[in-house]
Amino acid sequence: MNLDDLPIRDDLRGKSPYGAPQIDVPVRLNTNENPYPPSPELVADLAEAIRAGAGDLNRYPDRDATELRAGLAAYLGHGLTTEQVWAANGSNEVLQQILQAFGGHGRTAMGFEPSYSMHPIITSGTNTEWVKASREEDFSLDPGKAVAAIEEHRPDIVFLASPNNPTGTAQPIETIEAVLSAATGMVVVDEAYAEFARAGTPSALTLLPAHPRLIVTRTMSKAFAMAGTRLGYLAAHPAVVEALLLVRLPYHLSTLTQTAARVALRHRDELLGTVDALRRERDGTVAWLRSKGLSVADSDANFVLFGRFPDRRTVWEGLLAAGVLIREVGPPEWLRVSIGTGEEMAAFRAALEGVLQ
Ligand SMILES: *Cc1c(COP(=O)(O)O)cnc(C)c1O
Repeated sequence: MNLDDLPIRDDLRGKSPYGAPQIDVPVRLNTNENPYPPSPELVADLAEAIRAGAGDLNRYPDRDATELRAGLAAYLGHGLTTEQVWAANGSNEVLQQILQAFGGHGRTAMGFEPSYSMHPIITSGTNTEWVKASREEDFSLDPGKAVAAIEEHRPDIVFLASPNNPTGTAQPIETIEAVLSAATGMVVVDEAYAEFARAGTPSALTLLPAHPRLIVTRTMSKAFAMAGTRLGYLAAHPAVVEALLLVRLPYHLSTLTQTAARVALRHRDELLGTVDALRRERDGTVAWLRSKGLSVADSDANFVLFGRFPDRRTVWEGLLAAGVLIREVGPPEWLRVSIGTGEEMAAFRAALEGVLQ
């Protein structure tokens, strides 16, 4: 028997699952994790916090994760309160809850491609129709065209990733405001990479007071160096959080996850202490790739999109053969490399020079 023989939903037939390869190679630069592991002090603090709470694991966790949300609100700043913050197992679960509450059968969600592959996947998973709009050649958004696309399709949800994945492009705040003024539904600004943005790039959090249908999503998976914890969160009007309570599963965030995330917040100076080094490494990578005559998208994230390769598969395979795993994603002739440690990036450069020769 195979998948097609099952009585699966018609709209899921023929679809492919999310599938960034998980291959055990020396240099893994394909899923935009922070390459620096937690310090022994953090590991010890986490182990102690888990030990201290383990005696209560016969009980369900705090269903509303109140203490964690208070900590996240304090981290975000901008005067945000616990009632304006919500958390789930990765920002992907946050996005799924948003779609469950504001999308669904007969509704639409729009994104500007190339963008994060999970936006359309979560959209179709919740039986919501995906409406594709496009970016310019340089991956920026033309505010006039974005507004026109929104007015034409009147989507229930608009996704705007800033900095965008896989291109690294950050949106000027004016573009986000233009989208907000045109949209009649919810606007989700996915800020998974906000901490890596170059100086002077304001967060959409600054727009929350004036825009009750704006949702800003964040994650501990990238700059926060806690991808294994699975903790994502959002900031929005308190009424938006109330809407999400209607669709979340009870006790969705385990006691262990809440504990780990609270410990991570306590150690945020250490965890975010690597961001400046990663930014410098990113800017160096952009400059080096350009010096090789390649096309490189400006990046405000911890990855770089570069090309153009008529046969990108061969380049990707050549790097893999040299022990360097990057990502074959985005527009057809481009590849994406996550920013690793200095040593990992040196290995990437050496491997790419070998492939390009
Ligand atoms: C990595 C990423 C996420 C984060 O997903 P998590 O579920 O929090 O690990 C969200 N949005 C974008 C655009 C991403 O690239």
